[in-house]
Amino acid sequence: MPTLSKRTETFTDSVIRRMTRVSLKYGAVNLSQGFPDFEPPKEILDRLAEVTREDFHQYSITWGAQNFREALAEKQSALMGFDIDPNAEIVVTCGSTEAMMAAMMTVTDPGDRVIVFSPFYENYGADAILSGAEPIYVPLYPPEFNFKTDELEAAFRKGAKALILCNPSNPCGKVFTYEELKTIADLAERYDAFVITDEVYEHIVYAPHKHIYLASLPGMRARTLSCSSLSKTYSITGWRLGYIIAAPEVIEAAKKVHDFLTVGAAAPLQEAAVTGLKFGADYYEKLAETYTHKRDLFLKGLDDIGIPHTVPQGAYYIMLDISDFGFDDDLEFCEVLARDVGVGAVPGSSFFREPVNHLIRLHFAKRDETLNEALNRLNDIYKKIPKRK
Ligand code: GLN
Repeated sequence: MPTLSKRTETFTDSVIRRMTRVSLKYGAVNLSQGFPDFEPPKEILDRLAEVTREDFHQYSITWGAQNFREALAEKQSALMGFDIDPNAEIVVTCGSTEAMMAAMMTVTDPGDRVIVFSPFYENYGADAILSGAEPIYVPLYPPEFNFKTDELEAAFRKGAKALILCNPSNPCGKVFTYEELKTIADLAERYDAFVITDEVYEHIVYAPHKHIYLASLPGMRARTLSCSSLSKTYSITGWRLGYIIAAPEVIEAAKKVHDFLTVGAAAPLQEAAVTGLKFGADYYEKLAETYTHKRDLFLKGLDDIGIPHTVPQGAYYIMLDISDFGFDDDLEFCEVLARDVGVGAVPGSSFFREPVNHLIRLHFAKRDETLNEALNRLNDIYKKIPKRK
């Protein structure tokens, strides 16, 4: 038999998605892979039902259906603070996952270097390998997950072609401040690099923190590929609707990459999602309120149990510190947690470049009943998982 490609040898399957399978195996409350267990907005579902009987069953325009791009341009122009041309500055993709991959392939050649903050969402490592780019990791230091400007500058100095910025950040829940974004923007400009953002949690931010789009900073519109999706904003992770917003020359190239990768996102789903893109500001306020409530409920539960944890400023993940249990291997801890306590989590090591194995990630994008059930089970964690040492 001929050998398989070298590129597939250098990364594992997604640990996040593997933990969903582990949760299913043990009947655990799955707080590993981040997706909601509540319904998307009814208006979107009603429109989906209508769309099945309308003429949306063939390919849409490869870079996105016209009315989807127009609705998206209108929504994002208001948020990002500049006019987005729906015909020249948007590519609609199959989720932000494809958006990030297509963005990487649009700006890098094999051998180019890309800066990735650590901890990072696990896809970025695989994206780099698949596109042939070499990641340079820059640590974010807990508890605030701040970067050191001199370390970031040293990474740019190594000749980085692009920086990947997840804001609000998965898994650490950091929301970058204006000053931090300005530092990143200044360095990107000084060292002539692109920034690829992943802003899928743009509407899930906890007061007093505020989401600022990097592309809205002076000079950054030209060098930023803003990636995001509808998954988290409208609770439709299975629809796989994402996009890249960037300058026309960048989008021209990204359209080609996207076209040959996937041809296009599902036409009927784009049409139904237009309903969501046209929601007023009250929808996004309500979404942030809902998640603030869930965050507070879950954090209080964890405090009552006495497990140390991070406090997210945005997104819907919490990192728990499991040092007390004395495990050497956080993956093994997550297996034991799913099996003996009945709660699914993701080992922190899948997000860190550094050898970190004392953190696990849980998410709270779940109905209150589900969160309360998880907390009930976690109540016994110290009894059910004996300390090792
Ligand atoms: N972004 C979510 C997470 O981090 C879901 C990832 C995925 O499976 N696409 O869990």
